[in-house]
Amino acid sequence: MKNLLYIIISFLICFVAIYLDSPSYTSSNNSNDFSIENTMAHIDVMAQENHFMGTEENRKVRDYILSEFQKLNIQAEIFDGYTSSNWRNRFLKMAKTENIIATIKGNGNGKAVLIAGHYDSVLSAPGAADDVHAVACILESARLLKNMQHKNDIIFLITDGEEMGLLGAKAFTEMEDLSNIGLVLNYEARGNSGSSISFEWSEGNAWLVQQVKKAGINPIANSMSYEIYNRLPNDTDFTYFKKAGLSGINHAFIDGFSYYHNPVDNPETINKKSVKHTGENMYHLVKHFANIDITNTVSHNASFFNFLTGIISYPSSMDIFFLIFTLLLVVVCVVFAMRAETSIKSISIAFSYIILLLVLCIGSMIFLSSVLPKLYPQYNVFYSGQFYNHKWYLLTSVSTAIIFTWFITNYFNFKNKANAFKSAAIFVLSIFAIAMYMFLPTATYFMSFPIMALAFIYILNGSAFIKNKNILDGITFLLLIVPLIIWTPIIQNIFLAFSIKMLANPAVLTSFTCLATFIAFESIWTKNKSMLYIGLFGFFFSLIVAHLTSKPTEEKPLPSSVFYHYNLNDQTAHWATNQNDINIGNRDLLKGAKIKTLKLPRTESIIAVENKLSPSVSCKYIISDSTQNSVLSVQYDQEAYLTNVYFENTQNLKWAKINGKTAFENRTDDIGFYITLFGMTQDSLNLEISKIDSTQSQTVTINNEFMVLPQKDIIPKTARRVDGYTSLVKEVRM
Ligand SMILES: [Zn+2]
Repeated sequence: MKNLLYIIISFLICFVAIYLDSPSYTSSNNSNDFSIENTMAHIDVMAQENHFMGTEENRKVRDYILSEFQKLNIQAEIFDGYTSSNWRNRFLKMAKTENIIATIKGNGNGKAVLIAGHYDSVLSAPGAADDVHAVACILESARLLKNMQHKNDIIFLITDGEEMGLLGAKAFTEMEDLSNIGLVLNYEARGNSGSSISFEWSEGNAWLVQQVKKAGINPIANSMSYEIYNRLPNDTDFTYFKKAGLSGINHAFIDGFSYYHNPVDNPETINKKSVKHTGENMYHLVKHFANIDITNTVSHNASFFNFLTGIISYPSSMDIFFLIFTLLLVVVCVVFAMRAETSIKSISIAFSYIILLLVLCIGSMIFLSSVLPKLYPQYNVFYSGQFYNHKWYLLTSVSTAIIFTWFITNYFNFKNKANAFKSAAIFVLSIFAIAMYMFLPTATYFMSFPIMALAFIYILNGSAFIKNKNILDGITFLLLIVPLIIWTPIIQNIFLAFSIKMLANPAVLTSFTCLATFIAFESIWTKNKSMLYIGLFGFFFSLIVAHLTSKPTEEKPLPSSVFYHYNLNDQTAHWATNQNDINIGNRDLLKGAKIKTLKLPRTESIIAVENKLSPSVSCKYIISDSTQNSVLSVQYDQEAYLTNVYFENTQNLKWAKINGKTAFENRTDDIGFYITLFGMTQDSLNLEISKIDSTQSQTVTINNEFMVLPQKDIIPKTARRVDGYTSLVKEVRM
């Protein structure tokens, strides 16, 4: 009976940890407080349609934002920016971005707070979460902030072109004077639910962490995500702000990753709690930073993490002392075990059993990670395989760790050897603490504090210091809260970050948690088979439910790609896909498709099949020559949202200009040069080249993309089109 109570309390602590990590906010309905209704109304308007940069829908969203600022009597302007980014002198992006900047003046002369989010969406999604929610929260915060007195200016920067390579933020940091900006708060989304996590910080973040502790509303932040994110290749607008030397914080929610860049990232699917958590935090942080001195925001780095309802933080230089103290306690534990008639030999055997436990968890989950995409090819369409049902595999991973822990703790003859097992477990965990300090220094807290608590549990339970069993149990539970509260939310978040591609992560962390409960109450594992049954139930239940929910439905459709490709030179037409497989959403149009190489927009081979349709868009290509220069003018009868220009070589060219902007000068490489133009060629394209030898002709391939298809799209209700454009390609000699 008592054993059951131990199990229930342990699970309860884990659930409380997950609950505390979920989005929470104040529940006020006062019009002077942040209103989720107003925010959702903004999202409803702005996330009606996909609004990729350079499209009519994008301009509608832009105008809506301007008119909302106007209603609030806040001065807002469009800042046109031209920017380009060159990759190894082979690929060039050129873009015209239209950032919106709105300012509420402060009454002091300190530095300004910059709040940023992007209003463009990807081609495939209306972007309710990514990143319309941030713009909506900005508009609602602006409503509340405009009537207040603050010392510092508040600048709202709503960028364009984030999705195509952070182009708006790049243009902003290149063209604007940033010297008056004290700090920047950026808001993003990598899913459509979960709490708003302050996941990325500028260097020297201790002061900022302190302010978030003071002013945030249930802020979720830890230096572990800071360390991990710094090592990932991912980028947001914040990357450019940091590069430009601005300090600040980047926020995002990361749950619901299946909806990321998905056509169903719409106002119906976005989680309102997540939006409210984001919005309230944004509003309170801005209000706070607008009223304090933000000239000097950079200090030392902090180590920090959520614990119960607050954030614990300390200078990260203290991590080494916590680590040393932890290791000393580990030594004490081993000595303690040996005094209790445990030999080094049995500790070594226990050690190898625990390593075996980790190997079993990692091996089985690597196997599952590799087999799932083969069994369910539809998962591959989603980022890191996060199909809508993916969370069931978190349960599979956790259950697997529970099953293996049960076998290991029971197979290892625990009678008389529990001491060996517990001290070996603490020893193994301490190896991870050292690794943490070496590779993710400010995340050392993640191992050091739990190990300290476990060492105390071990020593207290092994000594006769506390005689009353109930008091001892109570203290043990209090100490057990430390590892369970610190580890459980990370089991979930690390799963959300890498999903079914890395199922080993949650399994390993779960085995740590299981070992912690063994150290505290070994009878949970050894008295009977309860934990084995719980593990087996979770394992089979999760796999069955995941299987039953593995098919796309109308509410949870499969994103599917098809575009129409027309070559004006040989007048061939193709259906083609940007995806690697044929799926339910494009198999009707792509019947009989093979891997082919088409001229632009893709340089590599794709799946395509010929058809007999004529394009519904037409273009005129007019070439005019002067002595040295040659001009190509392309006119189209519909708006082109994107243009690609490809030069097979550029040796004979002094320079090339596109719509008046220089694309390159004196490029000497004899390899091809590929240029993508965003937001620059809606009405027409004007390409001017200057030749070295004017008698030689220059071959250029042009591709324009239009948001139409030559016939009505064919797609079942359980799939959604992610592109569906016409790509017109022509090779010209100039
Ligand atoms: Zn985004």
